[in-house]
Amino acid sequence: MTADRKSHSSPAARGGLVVAIDGPSSSGKSTVGTEVASRLRYRFCDTGLLYRAIAWLALERRVAPTDVAGLVPLAAEIRLVADSRGRLRRVEADGRDVTVEVRSAVVDRAVSDYSKVPELRVALVSRQRAIAAEGGIIMAGRDIGTVILPNADVKIFLSASPEERARRRAAQRKTTEEGEAEQILDELRRRDAIDSSREIAPLRPAPDALLVNTDGNTFDQTVAMVVSAIRSAEGGAGGR
Ligand code: C5P
Repeated sequence: MTADRKSHSSPAARGGLVVAIDGPSSSGKSTVGTEVASRLRYRFCDTGLLYRAIAWLALERRVAPTDVAGLVPLAAEIRLVADSRGRLRRVEADGRDVTVEVRSAVVDRAVSDYSKVPELRVALVSRQRAIAAEGGIIMAGRDIGTVILPNADVKIFLSASPEERARRRAAQRKTTEEGEAEQILDELRRRDAIDSSREIAPLRPAPDALLVNTDGNTFDQTVAMVVSAIRSAEGGAGGR
């Protein structure tokens, strides 16, 4: 398996807590997680990029979600790339940067059908754990607090109504057409349904997660809540 690049100059490489942020699409995991990581000088990993890049590569190579033997080896061709602050927010597939491509509507539609394949998820477990191993990290996804890092020091489950999440998605895509906004909402609901009902690692809060509903919150309010949860856990962990 290809090793993901790490930033050895990251201040967080000196230690720090392991933080899991889970939640449905467009609940703010990535934007909130990135901002919190910058403020606390933690690393950040958006695990959705792994699944998106695999889906992108599978679509390119015409590998169907049912073709498990064809699908699993694709994971070795995906590489997360860290910036100078240890944030794994870029992804390469087959040697090229596909960070923009993996956010396309085509990948949005397909990704959940790939990510529900148990063999593929199993192939990615140790890889995600290795990224978190040195601590000082915020890892965002669907099953981080439940499956990947069940011993995380802090677990946050971010949620928001589908309508609010669709509004955020539409704003990100700079969509003003009503038809397209409705399509985004339908797509989001469909992906939530697949992610929540799959047999392996379904989207759900860990029993010990702090539930944060961001409806009606400003971005800064949500960031402040997450920062405060981490700060108090850092105090409890003796500032390790
Ligand atoms: O977070 P994002 O929307 O980019 O994730 C894309 C898809 O990847 C999700 O809809 C889900 O199917 C899958 N995913 C997952 N487990 C994770 C992260 C993402 O199944 N930890």
